[in-house]
Amino acid sequence: MNLEFDEQQITEIFYRWYNGEKVSSLLEELEVEKIPNCSLAKHFPPIALETPCRNCGENLYAFRSNPPHFKKTNALYDISTAHCLNCEHVESETCQCTGCIEILKERNKLIAQHEQERLQKRGIQLENLFNEITPIDSDNIEIEKLIYLYSLCLQSTCEDVCLISPLSASEAPFTPSTEGQRECIMSLLDYIAPLCEDEELLQFNNNGHATWEGDQVSYRIKTGDTNHLDYLEGLLKAIKDRLKRANIEEMSRFIALCERLMICECIDYLRFQRESYHLPHEVGAKTTALFKKLIYNLRTDQIYSVIWRSCREATAYKVKNGLPKHHASNLIISSIDSYVDKATQKNWEIRSYYRDSSKRQSTLSRVIFNKILELDGHGVEHTLQDVITKINSLNKIEKSEESGAQIDMRETSLETESIIK
Ligand SMILES: [Zn+2]
Ligand SMILES: [Zn+2]
Repeated sequence: MNLEFDEQQITEIFYRWYNGEKVSSLLEELEVEKIPNCSLAKHFPPIALETPCRNCGENLYAFRSNPPHFKKTNALYDISTAHCLNCEHVESETCQCTGCIEILKERNKLIAQHEQERLQKRGIQLENLFNEITPIDSDNIEIEKLIYLYSLCLQSTCEDVCLISPLSASEAPFTPSTEGQRECIMSLLDYIAPLCEDEELLQFNNNGHATWEGDQVSYRIKTGDTNHLDYLEGLLKAIKDRLKRANIEEMSRFIALCERLMICECIDYLRFQRESYHLPHEVGAKTTALFKKLIYNLRTDQIYSVIWRSCREATAYKVKNGLPKHHASNLIISSIDSYVDKATQKNWEIRSYYRDSSKRQSTLSRVIFNKILELDGHGVEHTLQDVITKINSLNKIEKSEESGAQIDMRETSLETESIIK
């Protein structure tokens, strides 16, 4: 409904309205039925703008300003109400005129096209990653890598044997620490290709080079067609066969892997205990060397009890003597060492602790201790000496004729860089 006044009257009405006169009294005087303040401007003819409509080219029109808008902009019309009288277009993102609906349709079509192109490109990039990996040949791959691959497949919840589910989706940790997990994955990059739809988790740069979150993506491997259980059994058998036939160098590598895993369990428990006492956790050569020495004769779960004891004592000492945290934290290492020395001299029996319920046995530990070595327990109930004896006995089955192939305890264990920290 447009109110019929001439331009002079309209100017006067708006002038009075802007000057604070009440709409109700104005309307009464003009003998017009009641109209709410907010829509009063819409009841007067709109003002023609110089801007043409983007759909049909006719001039746009805008309604006159209401008092707040006039105060703010000093403009006689409100540009946000611009509209076309010819094609019903309004200057708004949500305009539903025929022209705008057509434009929106075109835009959506273009977006869909881009999205399809993007997905196609990503599919090709992911496929390229897969094409670059080497099929797994269990006879010609380093024994450690074969063990890591078997562990990955064992941990995976995918039915498809060629697809490994993200490590983060599993209840059990892959290795005792996340650093170790990352290094296992890094060592397998020739054999596993990451796969993930989420562009945040797996990104490609302009050269098609991928970076990803190691434990949050899936991985693909190249295997023959076979079902999951058969494949897992085949891998385990291959590992055991390799150990039966292993030469000294290969056995030493396997022992070194067991040794690193056991050291890693100790360091991880040390971290756990230090954190529970709010002490800083730093691992240097001294700590690693200490655990390397202790695991030979002590079960990991015995070392747990010594760590627990030393953390408790160092904390008590810190409180009593007002020591800084890092000092107390360093004390733990010498305290563990001296307690074990004392226990050995005095023939004390060192108690053994269970794994803490929050620190589940890792898949790699389960594979090595329970699956390959067929030992009981949760990977912490054995000394390295027990492990070496077991490895020798497995190797002996095939090598009973060649006594020279036996590993003479720990002297030959390789000093390789720690893969599992
Ligand atoms: Zn128009
Ligand atoms: Zn429109």
